[in-house]
Amino acid sequence: MFQYIKRYFPKTAIAAAGAVLLLNMGTASAGVSVLHPGAGNRPPKTPDWNVENSREENTLEQYKNQGEPIKRLDSKKGVSAITLKVMLGESLVSAAVAADTSYKLVDGNEGKTLASFAANVPVRVSVDGGRMLINGEKINSRIVTVQTESSSARVKYNNAAYRGTLQLIYDGRGLQVINNLSLEDYVKGVLPSEMSSSWHPEVLKAQAVAARTFALYSKGKEHSASSGYDLCSSTHCQVYSGVAAETENANRAVDATYGQVMYYDNKVIYAAFHSSSGGATENSEDVWGNYLPYLRSVTDDDSRSPYHNWTERFTVPQVQKKLEASGKGVGTLQSMELTASSGTSITGRSASGRAYGIKFTGSSGSAVLTGEQLRVIFGLKSSMFNVRTERTVPLTGGSGQKAEGKRSSNGVTAAPAAMRGSAMKISGSETVVFDGHGFGHGLGMAQYGAKAMAEKGSRYDAVLKHYYTDIVIQEIY
Ligand SMILES: [Zn+2]
Repeated sequence: MFQYIKRYFPKTAIAAAGAVLLLNMGTASAGVSVLHPGAGNRPPKTPDWNVENSREENTLEQYKNQGEPIKRLDSKKGVSAITLKVMLGESLVSAAVAADTSYKLVDGNEGKTLASFAANVPVRVSVDGGRMLINGEKINSRIVTVQTESSSARVKYNNAAYRGTLQLIYDGRGLQVINNLSLEDYVKGVLPSEMSSSWHPEVLKAQAVAARTFALYSKGKEHSASSGYDLCSSTHCQVYSGVAAETENANRAVDATYGQVMYYDNKVIYAAFHSSSGGATENSEDVWGNYLPYLRSVTDDDSRSPYHNWTERFTVPQVQKKLEASGKGVGTLQSMELTASSGTSITGRSASGRAYGIKFTGSSGSAVLTGEQLRVIFGLKSSMFNVRTERTVPLTGGSGQKAEGKRSSNGVTAAPAAMRGSAMKISGSETVVFDGHGFGHGLGMAQYGAKAMAEKGSRYDAVLKHYYTDIVIQEIY
């Protein structure tokens, strides 16, 4: 991915330097930091993201139990389970469903049986001409439920098994396949997709509580408003793959933390988590713009993360193209400058050392991108990075032959702060280099750091309280 800019050295310099000469011509620069993907790794779109505005349904009453980390909520007597609607597919023309016991398709409104099938015999539900069809025969229903003989039966969609029940809904555009299941069963289908089941039991428990908390926070929010379900099954929310994904270790961690959810000020928290912090997590307002009292910057041991150090290189034309493709084109790039999000030059950084953004100036104007935007547009692993330039020079050897120069950097280790408050000039022949740490947005629990804590003997609740400031863990049923 890195390209060398070829340039020929004057003979006099060659004589002085020998056969291969490294030439550092770039300007040292300060870093800019970045974040990662994964679950709980998106900024919520809802305007109520501030805790002051958290919705009533997630405010499971007033429970103050400082000092006692985990406590059953006495006044939750009425709550035995929380059910989630998880979208497995939407805008479909047809869907194959089944169950591992004999099952019926039931009209979702009237409860009338539409058809019955033997165990594991799939049925095709489709839409055509504004109507739903069961194995090609038109029906009047717009909502169809797959009803099994017992609650322990597994329903199937596209040959994959799921706990709970399935609903097929014709919403006017196509079929939605919705898996209705308990919060606990949902977390079992999520945990192994978000963290390796071979990891330490205490970090698996911490992840189980984070995934459960994230799901409960999402219930009735973003997706529900427009689409009628609580969560999708992709990385947008949390990756959910049903029974096929489940493992013994992960299920044990879910059961060991049954019903446990993180609260701040009596409200379910937005339990963002990410892969690797790079050494320090971030304050929420420096990444997504919103202040959340429990998403504060903390340091951790990220040294054994495979993402602790990374480097990405782009030629200046590649940088120009990426900016253009994201609607932030500046023409021929002339300079880069570390900035605050407003575009004014800054000298500081966020709490963890992530930069606030870069101002790109070119022949047709300038654009300011935040660290988080840079992470997405350039496909970087995190927004915790330094930017520098480097340039390479192929040489003409003493015999008159050309010798390839090696890639050389501008010596960022010696002078890493050159970009602070001043623009880094770009002539067009440099390679722009991002040297970074960590993987993800940097908010909340960092999985590799949490793993390190668990391996050194921390319990899961201590891990969670390290990453989520001043939270209380409570059992909701
Ligand atoms: Zn989603």
